[in-house]
Amino acid sequence: MSGSGENIMVILSSPSGVGKTTLTKKIQQKYKSFKISVSHTTRSPRSNEIHGIDYFFISNKKFEELIEKKKFYEYAKIFENYYGTLKKNVDESIITNDLIFDIDWQGTKQLSNYKNLKLIKIFLITDNKNELKKRLINRNQNTDAEIDRRFKSFDEDIKHWNDYDYIIINKNLEVCFKQIENIILSNKKNNYLSS
Ligand code: 5GP
Repeated sequence: MSGSGENIMVILSSPSGVGKTTLTKKIQQKYKSFKISVSHTTRSPRSNEIHGIDYFFISNKKFEELIEKKKFYEYAKIFENYYGTLKKNVDESIITNDLIFDIDWQGTKQLSNYKNLKLIKIFLITDNKNELKKRLINRNQNTDAEIDRRFKSFDEDIKHWNDYDYIIINKNLEVCFKQIENIILSNKKNNYLSS
């Protein structure tokens, strides 16, 4: 990992459907210094997703080649598809930008092994599992079987809250966004003070 200077790396993890993607995009829109780390995945694109913006959609074969060549900082198999963060993309972006990672707990654990990085690890949860199921259904992006699988992984996902620096309960998107902003701003301020 390259020396990342004053730029920060914010990891946002959550069970599926808690609002992470919306929040990630809101942060990037408000804070122009932030770039979203675009992952590679073997899952198929959803109708609203664009290659290179939402993900780099690649084949299983290509993904496994990249694993073999040790090109990833982290990767995981989630819901039967691979997802991973390419070293090259992070190393290039962090020179000029702050980065947000929308990755799961497995990837967070792997990134945490790079002790030279000052990661800010945020875990988002909902206090209402029924609400979560409704959101997964309403967003209309997954088959019934996928919704079920994503919903069932909730209990496994939240077991890993302890690996994070901050836990936020997303009851209200605006409040949640404010909390994330405060975390980011206080960490940026610490950077300025120590520079
Ligand atoms: P989705 O299929 O809904 O886009 O993402 C499913 C899960 O994969 C989400 O929890 C998301 O945070 C996670 N994910 C996306 N990209 C990566 C990645 O590069 N690495 C890891 N470990 N998880 C990822």
